[in-house]
Amino acid sequence: MRRMAKLFWRYGAMAAGKTLALLGVAHNYERLGRSVLIYTARIDDRYGEGVVGTRLGIQRPARTFGPDTRFSPQDVPPGTACILFDEAQFLTCEQVTELHRLAVLHGFPVICYGLRSDFQGKAFEGAAALSTLADQIEELKTVCACGRKASFNIRVDAQGKRLWEGEQVSIGGDAQYIAACPHQFYTGHCKP
Ligand SMILES: [Zn+2]
Repeated sequence: MRRMAKLFWRYGAMAAGKTLALLGVAHNYERLGRSVLIYTARIDDRYGEGVVGTRLGIQRPARTFGPDTRFSPQDVPPGTACILFDEAQFLTCEQVTELHRLAVLHGFPVICYGLRSDFQGKAFEGAAALSTLADQIEELKTVCACGRKASFNIRVDAQGKRLWEGEQVSIGGDAQYIAACPHQFYTGHCKP
């Protein structure tokens, strides 16, 4: 019987280095001759479907998950030392429970990286579920333009104009996301 493992939730705003941290964990396991399983959301095709990538140009292939993906012990290849998730905010509540069971009942450590809140300050479903069930929670920090901690994400158009309304997930189009301090998030500008 495998020992109990943990479900980890490591969240941060845009550009907090989440994907880079994930790739670093994968590298450390593989350096020791142990294999990892990497998933990313099917919704994220910035680097091609099934690829986890960073703005620094490092990337590698990954399995993809959608709302219908199930996570059972049979889906985990024998010898897998760790299961890593990028864009974990897109997991459903039910999937997060499945992943917690994989860790606690089947001994596979599961490390999830993702955003906590959307551009309107609302929790993503996966983020809320991970905050509820994860055995260990860590914030990956990044800074706002003003130098304060950026814990929110704002959506801007191609011209950099703030977008306050819209769908939670905007696929395609020119919308971009910027990490922002709470003051900027609510007022549109940083506290002087
Ligand atoms: Zn700021």
